Amino acid sequence: MRLKGIGVSGGIAIGRAFVFEEFEIKEEKSSDGKNKGAEKNRLSNAVERCEKELEELGEKLADRKERGILEAQKLMLRDPALFDRAMELIDEGYTAEYAMNAAAEESARTLESVEDPYIRERASDIRDIAQRVIRALQGKRFEAKENAIAIGKELNASDVLALNAKGIATEKGSPTSHMSIIAGALGIPAVVGVKGLDRIKEGMLVAIDGDNGYVLIEPDEKEINREIEERRREREEMERLKALPAVTKSGRRVNIRANIGGLGDAKKASGADGVGLFRTEFFLLDRSDEPSEEEQFSVYKEVAELFRERPVIIRTFDIGGDKEVSYLGIKKESNPFLGVRGIRLCLKRRELFKTQLRAILRASVYGNLKIMYPMVALEDEVEEANVILEEAKNELRAEGKEFKDIPVGMMVETPAAALYAELFDVDFFSIGSNDLIQYTMAADRTNDDLSYLYRADRIMKLIAHVVEVAKEKGIEVGVCGEIAGDPGLIPQLVRMGIDELSMSPSKIANAKRIVREMD
Ligand code: PEP
Ligand code: MG
Repeated sequence: MRLKGIGVSGGIAIGRAFVFEEFEIKEEKSSDGKNKGAEKNRLSNAVERCEKELEELGEKLADRKERGILEAQKLMLRDPALFDRAMELIDEGYTAEYAMNAAAEESARTLESVEDPYIRERASDIRDIAQRVIRALQGKRFEAKENAIAIGKELNASDVLALNAKGIATEKGSPTSHMSIIAGALGIPAVVGVKGLDRIKEGMLVAIDGDNGYVLIEPDEKEINREIEERRREREEMERLKALPAVTKSGRRVNIRANIGGLGDAKKASGADGVGLFRTEFFLLDRSDEPSEEEQFSVYKEVAELFRERPVIIRTFDIGGDKEVSYLGIKKESNPFLGVRGIRLCLKRRELFKTQLRAILRASVYGNLKIMYPMVALEDEVEEANVILEEAKNELRAEGKEFKDIPVGMMVETPAAALYAELFDVDFFSIGSNDLIQYTMAADRTNDDLSYLYRADRIMKLIAHVVEVAKEKGIEVGVCGEIAGDPGLIPQLVRMGIDELSMSPSKIANAKRIVREMD
């Protein structure tokens, strides 16, 4: 039997099911309130144990962003709204377990009532952390289940590390949930949003197909072997292809580059001809303050060093739209996708922008970096951004800090920019088809009801014009939206004259195969 979900971390895993339980917390008064002191000690000890556990788990993670998730959870343990409130409830005579659960619920509900979706999401973090404390109080902790497939409603980020299971399937969760990010970072095949998981009982044989989003229950041996053999062959073929250049039979070279969101992705993109899109705004998410120049510099430098002479296109912060950052204090807008987004925001938050530009410039001496501005609609925006870039360069010069004069390009993702591409003075274009489709079709890309309007064919005239202008100007033109990795569209884009296709690292090998099969 086969259940369908969303594959959030690729690969195949087969093993026996470990069905993780959910804890039930009964309302209990500690007997006539005499044990208040003891209950408080229990809670303090449990919180300390959790702090240690989270530290140990963090050491298993190489990537700063993912470690940050656990660090944030550790800080939350001592949040007064959680810890002090639980202590108060113990004073009222409740058990430590009940007090922790009730304090977490109060706090989570308050967060859920806030309009800002980023803050609302923190409610589930609070509940996760309370579950962890309660488990510590009850002396239960997830033992490592290296040979098992973890099955259940919802798993939190730190449990993924503690379990270290072979595969994961959960009923809840999304591709961007912390659990998915950590599973991806650890290479544990995972599928979320699976209905019908309650059919799986402890010990049953289960296979997880993280690439296609399937959970197979009690697959027969033949089915398993077939799947494994197919994957092995695919992987071998892909490894071979990844190392080859994407050249058509007639000798035209296309650069196949990677879209990355951080160091973790960069490391997975080994076969790429560089990075066509580094979505740096992920830097700003999952934290409570702005990243410093030094912090950004060290990541850009590491990515630059990883790819050496191969280009790495760093897109400046693309905040706004569906990517909100609460601590930047951005005004609420009724149409965020049409609002202060991307370069528009950076031109208003000049210090934030300049800090990023300084970090990129300083890192430029370690590799082949390029800068790219997102969400450009007018040539004036590029000019204004370049003024800030010049300021950053002047500052670095005055401070005696080294940098290179690196190319500056722009994303073409508004119809205005595509139609009037000739007016922009840049070193390269990269077509952001996700947004170009959204803005051409006037259809919110996050609205499921409008998915029928996601029509790549309706932006082809715009792409053709951008390519024509790029050829006249003698600059590179790439595509870095989802269509760049779409096997059905790659030949058409290459035939239209696109020089570069940038896509998620897992699609690179197949894209190279498609280009190599073209005449
Ligand atoms: C795009 O719009 O196509 C793009 C690549 O940028 P993002 O998906 O990050 O908006
Ligand atoms: Mg975009």
